[in-house]
Amino acid sequence: MSDLLCDRFQQVVAQYTLRHKSILDILSKMQEAQARVQRAVAKAVTNCGCIQVRAAKQTLPAGVTMAELPSYLTSHLLGELCPECRETVEEELGQLFFYLTALCNTLDISLTDVLDKEQDKLCTLRYFSLT
Ligand SMILES: [Zn+2]
Repeated sequence: MSDLLCDRFQQVVAQYTLRHKSILDILSKMQEAQARVQRAVAKAVTNCGCIQVRAAKQTLPAGVTMAELPSYLTSHLLGELCPECRETVEEELGQLFFYLTALCNTLDISLTDVLDKEQDKLCTLRYFSLT
């Protein structure tokens, strides 16, 4: 997201979070939204079937370099989201962004600053893990 888009989104969220002013409401709603994202992805696998999860231990040959890592690691995902599942996942991600941004607003944290700092960190590290 561009800085302008982040700032504008943060302002719009502030206007619509009157009902969820409490930090406790925001935290619980954010957790609920995260669970709904996971459920939407799981339903794409189990109900629709447009994507499949095929997982096994990731094995790396000895001496593999950081640059070679991506070609040895897999997402464990087969297929692509169909338009309906994509729309559902995007809607749920939107809700998650909404509550994440509401949390930033309540704590007086700039979403732009958070993203800028994270991007700087990633650019410094070049390679990162999801942990
Ligand atoms: Zn689908």
